[in-house]
Amino acid sequence: MSEEVRKKSSVGIIGAGIQGVCIALYLIKKGFKVSLIDRDDPGENSASYGNAGHFSPYASLSMNRPDILIDVPSMLLSSTGPLALKWNYVPKMIPWFLKFIKNSTKKKMMHTAKYMHQILDLALPAYDELFQEIDLSGLVESRGILYFWTNRDLKSRELEINVREKLGVEQKLLKPNEIHDLEPHIKQIYHGGVLYPSARHARNPRKILLKLFELFLKKGGRFIKENVEIINFSSDNKPSIKTNVDSHIFDKAVIACGAFSKKLTDQVDEKIPLDTERGYHVHFKGYDHLLSRPVIFLNRGFGITPMEQGLRVVGTVEFGGLNNPASKKRILNLINNAKYLFPELKDHHDEWLGFRPTLPDFLPVIGPSKNNKNIVYAFGHQHLGWTLGAITGKIISGILTNEKTNLDLSAYSLTRFS
Ligand SMILES: Cc1cc2nc3c(=O)[nH]c(=O)nc-3n(C[C@H](O)[C@H](O)[C@H](O)COP(=O)(O)OP(=O)(O)OC[C@H]3O[C@@H](n4cnc5c(N)ncnc54)[C@H](O)[C@@H]3O)c2cc1C
Repeated sequence: MSEEVRKKSSVGIIGAGIQGVCIALYLIKKGFKVSLIDRDDPGENSASYGNAGHFSPYASLSMNRPDILIDVPSMLLSSTGPLALKWNYVPKMIPWFLKFIKNSTKKKMMHTAKYMHQILDLALPAYDELFQEIDLSGLVESRGILYFWTNRDLKSRELEINVREKLGVEQKLLKPNEIHDLEPHIKQIYHGGVLYPSARHARNPRKILLKLFELFLKKGGRFIKENVEIINFSSDNKPSIKTNVDSHIFDKAVIACGAFSKKLTDQVDEKIPLDTERGYHVHFKGYDHLLSRPVIFLNRGFGITPMEQGLRVVGTVEFGGLNNPASKKRILNLINNAKYLFPELKDHHDEWLGFRPTLPDFLPVIGPSKNNKNIVYAFGHQHLGWTLGAITGKIISGILTNEKTNLDLSAYSLTRFS
C-alpha cells in the first residue's frame, strides 16, 4: 500500500487498552488517519491498568500444560491456592474447558510455547521503538523478575525450566542464600528460585499507558469516548460502528477490546471461544522499599510488584465471566498471602478486579477477520498482554500495509477455531 493511499485511509480502533494504544501509535507512524474509541478514558480501569506490570519476554510456557491440568482439582480445593470458580458460571464455561483440555497435551503445550516465544522475543525491542519518543524516567525498571518456591513445587518448575532452556531463554537458577541476597526482606520460606534477568517491570502501568496515549494525540490521533454497541457494514463493505452516541464509518476497523471483544466478534459472525480469567490486586501503600523487583511465590501462585502505589499484590485465576461481582474471599486470600511473606504489612488499599482475555489454546488472535476483509482482530493475550502490546501493534500495522514478514502469523489466525 502506497504512502499516498495510507494517508487517505481511516482506521477505527475499538479499545484503548495497551493493545489499542500501541496499534494506534504504530499505524499513525505509517501515515493512517487513526481514531481510538473507548467507553472509558484510557487506563481508567482496564486490565492494562491493574496488571502486575511485568514485561516478561521469557514467559512462553502458558497454562495449557498436562501437569497443570492434573493439578486443577487440588488447586480448586486449596483455600490458599491461585485457582477459583464462580459456580454459577460453570455451565457457560464448559465448552471453553473442553477445548482447554484438548489443548493441554504436551504437543499442544509446545505449539503454544513456540508461537508465544516468537512474539515474546520481539516484545521489548518493539516497546523500545515507542519508548524512545516519551520520557519514562522512573517508570520502567530493568532488574529482572524473581520466582521462588518450596520443595513441594519442584515438579512443574523443572518442566518450565527445561522448556525455556530449549527455547534459549536466559534464566539463572538461585539457591536460598542468593534469593536472600537479592531480596533480603522476604521471609525465608523458600528452597529455590529462578531469576529472569531480561525481564523489566512497570512502576505504574497506567502512567505508561497515558504517556503512549498522549503521544498518539500529539501525532494527530483522535479519541472518541463512546461505547461501541453494534458493528455493521456499509454498501461498499466498510465497517460502520454504532455507539451509544453516534455512528462512524472507517475504511478499516481493529477490534482490541481485550476480554470484551467477543461481544463484537459475535456480531461479525465469527465463532471465537474467547473467555476471561479474572484476576485481582490490592496495594500496600508505602511498602515498596521492601522489594527491588517483582517476585512470584509459586506455591501460592501470586506475585508482588514494587510500584509507585506501594506493593501491588496480584494474583488469582478465577473463572467467572465478565458480570459476576468481585469475590471478597479472593481479595482476602491475596492479603493473607502477602502478609505471610511480609509479616510487617498492615492495611491494604484499592481492591481491584480485572479481566484477562484468554483463548483455550492460550494463543492470542492477531489478524484479519474471516468474514470481512476490512476488520482486523487483536485480543486474547491472556497473562501476557502488557508485555505484548507493542509487538502486537507492530504486527497489526504490518498486516494493514501488506508488508512482508519473516514471522509465521498462522498460529494467531482465528481460522484455527473453524
Ligand atoms: C491481575 C492481572 C495481572 C496481570 N499481569 C500482567 C503482567 O504482569 N504482565 C503482562 O504482560 N500481562 C499481565 N496481565 C494481562 C494484561 O493485563 C492483559 O492481557 C492486557 O492488559 C490486555 O490488554 P487489552 O488492550 O487487550 O485489553 P484491556 O486492557 O482490557 O482494554 C480493553 C479496552 O476496551 C474497552 N472496551 C471494551 N468493550 C468496549 C466497547 N464495547 N466499546 C468501547 N470500548 C470498549 C475497555 O474499556 C478497555 O479500555 C495481567 C492481567 C490481570 C487481570
